[in-house]
Amino acid sequence: MKILVLNCGSSSIKYQLFKMEGDSWDVMAKGGVEKIGLKGSFLKHEKENGEKVLLEGEILDHETGIDYILGVMLSERHGCLKDMEEIDAVGHRVVHGGETFNSSVFITDEVIAKMESCIDLAPLHNPPNLKGISAISSLLPHVPQVGVFDTAFHQTMPKHAYMYAIPNSLYTKYGVRRYGFHGTSHRFVSKRACEMQGVDYKSQRIITCHLGNGASIAAINNGMSVDTSMGFTPLEGLMMGTRAGDLDVGAVTYIMDKELIGTQSASVLFNKHSGMLGVSGISSDMREIQNAMEQGDVNAQLGFDMYTYRIKKFIGSYIAAMGGVDILVFTGGIGENSVITRQAVCSDMSFMGIVLDEEKNQGIRGIEAEISRPDAKVKVLVVPTNEELVIAQDTKTIVDALKQK
Ligand code: ADP
Repeated sequence: MKILVLNCGSSSIKYQLFKMEGDSWDVMAKGGVEKIGLKGSFLKHEKENGEKVLLEGEILDHETGIDYILGVMLSERHGCLKDMEEIDAVGHRVVHGGETFNSSVFITDEVIAKMESCIDLAPLHNPPNLKGISAISSLLPHVPQVGVFDTAFHQTMPKHAYMYAIPNSLYTKYGVRRYGFHGTSHRFVSKRACEMQGVDYKSQRIITCHLGNGASIAAINNGMSVDTSMGFTPLEGLMMGTRAGDLDVGAVTYIMDKELIGTQSASVLFNKHSGMLGVSGISSDMREIQNAMEQGDVNAQLGFDMYTYRIKKFIGSYIAAMGGVDILVFTGGIGENSVITRQAVCSDMSFMGIVLDEEKNQGIRGIEAEISRPDAKVKVLVVPTNEELVIAQDTKTIVDALKQK
């Protein structure tokens, strides 16, 4: 079965074409369209053999972008398909499924209407996701589509974990509560960690740290997400590349008063100019922060210390929430590659059973590995995430089940 996975953002589309057979899979092509509706839009396409192609063009909307993607896949020079009919299904990443979606779904008109009702919760993210779905409906009208939600995995959180301590009416009127994000990644790496350890997913207490440009941490008890650090929006929780993470609401209103800024500017301030970038004044990129730290930059060091301290605090609180932990997982660009981040987070945690094998940790970048000492109570693992693969697998499962009916 050939499955096209799409991740449609406001001005970009990322894609991967998977060939799935039984439990095995291959990526036949991948790439992205960028600057949709802007000057200088282009498509970057990577073939199975790693060869890259750049196509410039006027890509004014998502439908044109997807048309370009299908065009390059069919092209004689760069393509991997002979006929559009070869695409059996399309899987979409959808950011917000609200309380409506607790798992991936086959997309029907009714489902689209429900997705539209979630736009209010993610006004920047859900509309481009829906544009991608509608573009496929018109370009490949007979191909089944599946939606995979970032929030779905966290729908198992208990009410005392997802409610905020604000008047209940704000929850009932507007749905203000913790939803959590990166669910596809937390689900994938926690399951994969259990496969690596040969243990039953349903009997483990797992903490997963997804540390990319955005970052979140999740507590997964017996296969279910029971808490996570991102909240109503992806701004809450850990410190991130440009996002503040947890912040006293009193400080927010105080800054807005003092700086005479409204909600739009405040949102830009805390989402785009804060986090590692705001504290270091150098960059949101961990590699650049690490380089600056080596040069003795004190603000980069402070940013790093704050970043890792927060992760440590969350780990402690989730151990308390679950009454212990069996597996701790690092993933995302920083979790998979930054040796010193993992080292700092796990330092002085032996009283909780977390002890890194420093030598093993040193050598691990972007690959699966166990990096805890063999005698440590808690297994610490690096598991590269693969959200696109989860979308392809969910799509296959749902489409296969439909065919059985
Ligand atoms: P996104 O959330 O956009 O998918 P990624 O998961 O790719 O982002 O993570 C990007 C982060 O990973 C950046 O801060 C980058 O500096 C960091 N990163 C990537 N490679 C390394 C490395 N070798 N050492 C330290 N940090 C790294």
